[in-house]
Formats: sequence, structure tokens, C-alpha cells
Amino acid sequence: MKRLFVDLEICNRCGDCQVSCDYFYHPQNNGIASLREYATFATICRHCEQAPCVNSCYHNALERQPDGHLKRYKMRCTSCKSCTVACPFGVIFQDFIPYLDSRCDYCVGLTAGAPKCVTTCPEKAIEVRDIGEEDLESDIYFVGEHLAVHTRKWSREDMQPLKKK
Ligand code: SF4
Ligand code: SF4
Repeated sequence: MKRLFVDLEICNRCGDCQVSCDYFYHPQNNGIASLREYATFATICRHCEQAPCVNSCYHNALERQPDGHLKRYKMRCTSCKSCTVACPFGVIFQDFIPYLDSRCDYCVGLTAGAPKCVTTCPEKAIEVRDIGEEDLESDIYFVGEHLAVHTRKWSREDMQPLKKK
């Protein structure tokens, strides 16, 4: 199945993002920002039980879901950046949480060519790939139905042996 593939190892090192977006309904849409937020909360975030980012938000815009994943209520978020400072792991980059919200619909249904983000990313951090299964050895994970992410994923289970030492 074809999925949008984002390499966070490349993308998170990049400077000013040059990527354009095909999203039809909003000409200023910056889908890559919402894509990175979604992918990062799923893979790199420690899913803290007493999450400092959630506790730091005066607007109740961040919520820890039952599975530990963070959800940001974008209509409540004022982009104050308190959560970026509160996270002890530096997970929430400032450019994830712009005041102007964006959406990524993965360009599902695009029949010809590649999405604009793929063609405009100078670092080739975004591709469309035919990926049938996650490849944990290569650090490729699925996040939802349409997105595959390459990153060093954090997991509580992986940290257990270190704790016992
Ligand atoms: S940037 Fe948004 S989510 Fe983060 S603390 Fe401020 S209002 Fe809450
Ligand atoms: S404080 Fe950082 S690591 Fe912990 S839940 Fe919030 S974003 Fe994730």
C-alpha cells in the first residue's frame, strides 16, 4: 500500500522548512507541520504519565489519551509555547505549534504525480513509498493508516534493561 513516508531523522535536523503543500481548501496550509506533530507525538514522545507539557498548558489544549499519546486541541491552543519549555525531553519543537492550524490529508486520492511536499522538500525527507509492513529493524513505523515514519522510536519497554543495571 502506498503511504506518505517522512524521515524525521532528516526532517528534524532541517532549518527553515521550504516545503509547499497541495491541500486544496486552505492556500496557507502547511501540512508538514501537522504531520511532524502527529508523527513525533506517536514515536518520540515519552508519553509521560504526569506529563509536564499537559500540566504547563494554561488553556487545557493538551490531553494525554488513554494510550499515552498526546492530543492537541488546536482551537484552544494559543501557540504560547509553554509546553515546548516544559517538556524535559525537547520533544515539542516550536514550529509544531503555530497559531495557524494546518492539516495533512496525505493527498489520499491524488492520481497523478507526487504531492507537493515530496517534490519541494530539498532534503528528500518526504516520499511516497509502497510499504506493506513496518520494518522495526530499520526504524520504520506506521502512524495511522496513511503515514510511515523513519525515526529512532522511544519505547518504555526498551528502557527496562537500562533501569535494572
Ligand atoms: S503552545 Fe498551545 S498546547 Fe502548548 S502550552 Fe501553549 S496553549 Fe498549550
Ligand atoms: S513532557 Fe514531553 S515527553 Fe512528556 S508527554 Fe509531554 S511532550 Fe511527551
